[in-house]
Amino acid sequence: MISTHYDVVILGAGPAGLACAIELKQSKLQVLLIDKKAEIGPKICAGGLTNLTKDYVIPNEKTRSFNRQKIVIKDNDHVIELANPIRTITRLELGQYQLQQLQDASNIRVLNNTTVQEIQQNKVITTEGQHIHYNYLVGADGSTSLVRKSLGLTSKHCIGLYYNIPVITNECVWYLKYKTLKTGYIWVFPHKEHTNIGVYFNPLILNSKKARKELENYLTSKGYTFLNKELHGAPICYNYKGYEFGSVFLTGDAAGLTSKGTGEGISYALISGKEIARKIMDENYKPLELNNMIRIKKRQDKLFKILETFPFMHAFLYTVFVQLMKIKSFQAYFGV
Ligand SMILES: Cc1cc2nc3c(=O)[nH]c(=O)nc-3n(C[C@H](O)[C@H](O)[C@H](O)COP(=O)(O)OP(=O)(O)OC[C@H]3O[C@@H](n4cnc5c(N)ncnc54)[C@H](O)[C@@H]3O)c2cc1C
Repeated sequence: MISTHYDVVILGAGPAGLACAIELKQSKLQVLLIDKKAEIGPKICAGGLTNLTKDYVIPNEKTRSFNRQKIVIKDNDHVIELANPIRTITRLELGQYQLQQLQDASNIRVLNNTTVQEIQQNKVITTEGQHIHYNYLVGADGSTSLVRKSLGLTSKHCIGLYYNIPVITNECVWYLKYKTLKTGYIWVFPHKEHTNIGVYFNPLILNSKKARKELENYLTSKGYTFLNKELHGAPICYNYKGYEFGSVFLTGDAAGLTSKGTGEGISYALISGKEIARKIMDENYKPLELNNMIRIKKRQDKLFKILETFPFMHAFLYTVFVQLMKIKSFQAYFGV
């Protein structure tokens, strides 16, 4: 049995875990960042970055940027001019960009190709039998988080399904097809070399088969071809129950920090990862940015709750929402 000790063990090298490690670079803490994947970055995700990541600097050449987006409600187009552009980036690019920022960090060790299978008091155990002890554990292990489970927290999930269509398009679009998709929507996110087109929905309200059918009908209607085996899908955990549990912290999807209404989670992951690192470095640190983001999530979740509770009001509520979206201060208030 190999046994080691670190001041901080971060489980998961997605945007949350990497953001946490990047922030901990400036400390004297010995940090281990563990991920089961061989390559840091790739993840089932559409790679859209909204207003909430406006302060997160990524070199322009890695992203595409859009100053407006189109929302389609019942065949009516609404063009929204954005206060801050929506950007798209592939998860490989984002992960590698974050990883690069750890290159000069002598106190951070990245251990990829390593799966944690058990969490015990003050240690994690890998499938290869390594016992890694910690003073602080950061759960950044995504929507089916082991750390979250070890805290006895249950999860609730929405689902995203998509195809990457090898066509370059130039418009970000959201289709709010409430008659068929209920509270879900179809998105079109143009990337540099493909267009990511997918459907987001709550499986308690709409079953996956119907959602997939809607997505594929849309693709066919636009003349796009796709292979069934190229469908990607994954759950997104949205029920937030807190981020601090003694010496264990939760970030990103593991904390349920995503928007239940849109499935957006990269921004939450980046900010919660950074803020938890600051909290570890200084126990008196007040994570105002994270708390503000949680307030925005709660606002978005409330609107979604109203949509779920009053399905007959979808047309009205979406129309009001689109009008509000045209006001730039509302975009900031609502985080879109
Ligand atoms: C279809 C789909 C589309 C999406 N589109 C968008 C979008 O356009 N914009 C947006 O903002 N959000 C989007 N999201 C949500 C976004 O992907 C997540 O919110 C985001 O990835 C959360 O980051 P994270 O770092 O918390 O977790 P993750 O990115 O999931 O990273 C978790 C990491 O932990 C590792 N890990 C997990 N368990 C273990 C273990 N036991 N041992 C070792 N390693 C482990 C995984 O390998 C992974 O690298 C989408 C999600 C889906 C499913």
